[in-house]
Amino acid sequence: MPEIVTSATPAASIDARVWVKSLDFKDFVVSGARIWKVEEAALDPLSSFLHVRDGRIVAEGAAARAADSRVPRIGLPGRVVVPGLIDAHVHLELDPELNTPAQQLAVPEEDRLEAMAGRAAAMLAAGITTARDCGGGAHREHRLRDSIRARPQGGPRLLCCGQPLTTFGGHCSFWGGEVETPADIDRMIAQQVEAGSDWIKVIATGGIFTPGSRARDAQFDLSLLRSVVESARRRGREVAAHCHGSDGIANALRAGVRTIEHASFAGPAGFGTALDDSLMREMAEAESWVSPTVNAGWGRRIEDAEGEPTDFFQRLSTALRAQRAHGIRFIASTDAGIPGVFHHDLVAGLLAFERFAGLRPVDVLRCATSEAATALGIADETGRLEEGLSADFLVLGKDPLEDLRALNDPEFVVFRGDWLDRAARGSVPPARDSG
Ligand SMILES: [Zn+2]
Repeated sequence: MPEIVTSATPAASIDARVWVKSLDFKDFVVSGARIWKVEEAALDPLSSFLHVRDGRIVAEGAAARAADSRVPRIGLPGRVVVPGLIDAHVHLELDPELNTPAQQLAVPEEDRLEAMAGRAAAMLAAGITTARDCGGGAHREHRLRDSIRARPQGGPRLLCCGQPLTTFGGHCSFWGGEVETPADIDRMIAQQVEAGSDWIKVIATGGIFTPGSRARDAQFDLSLLRSVVESARRRGREVAAHCHGSDGIANALRAGVRTIEHASFAGPAGFGTALDDSLMREMAEAESWVSPTVNAGWGRRIEDAEGEPTDFFQRLSTALRAQRAHGIRFIASTDAGIPGVFHHDLVAGLLAFERFAGLRPVDVLRCATSEAATALGIADETGRLEEGLSADFLVLGKDPLEDLRALNDPEFVVFRGDWLDRAARGSVPPARDSG
């Protein structure tokens, strides 16, 4: 086994790529880097240690430093290490360059899996080590998830929802999950679980992507949504609910879904025009999670050509800040796959989220790491750099708690203890400008 000695070389002059490319250690200690603990609002100025064995963190701090001296040390002087990022809402099946469901459905079958694999690889290259897929039509993303389990370099850890449950002709009905009665619901959920779904997705309001659907209208009543949650829970699954209007948000919340997707408080005048204080209070009291899908597309709509805040920014910013003021818990998500929102572009979404919700970088980073892991029920697997968890982390040149742009183009992405450097990551699409 080659010996790697902690280097004291300044970050700017070290070419760690040369040696990390040849790294296939199952057992190593990271040293010299400042390692972010999610509880801390600012990065500790002192460097620390992480001991990784067989893909898991086996010790941190002083305990990692005290590892057997035969364990190779990987020196990362001047670098910052943060947990791998989590995008809580993507659609691997959707091609962001296509604009309508009809175009999406027309993609030839033989091209689909390859395109999905390419999206997953680009996500991992961009530092996304976990994502929840919030719906597709044929469980292809489940196959992708399983192939990544066998070959972690292929993409992030995936949690898959499968076919979203919706009303006949309702939003996302083109994916085949139409249900009408409690018996339909139970049968459809059984099918999703049988197909290997980790989560259940239900469409509680209309959406903008489906012709004939209206985002602010509720789709299911409270009792049917309760049937969804009960049927899912009986099978050990939690529910994510797509919700734009407040009636749908209220139904989903009272039915006991675990994550409320979008929560845009859509009214007749558009998103963010039907804020409901008492409902927000109820959401905060229920400790439900909001996954607001703030993405790169939002980032392009902050200012108009004259540099003035857009109407869209003002409405959605007000809605997100009101939720924050009520103490509602957020997780980071993008809805990647919808038109113009690329799967690897989470960081642009995080930059937009910071602006729209008025959050500090540390809050945004928690939403994309520890908070998302807790909401998704995988806090014992990822989201923090702690003993016992998967070794999922990013090696950065700068401190993202000072400027989230430090998350763009990580020097290394480590997933389940496997190191991917920029060269190995290959043709990474450039991170998009959020402005
Ligand atoms: Zn979605």
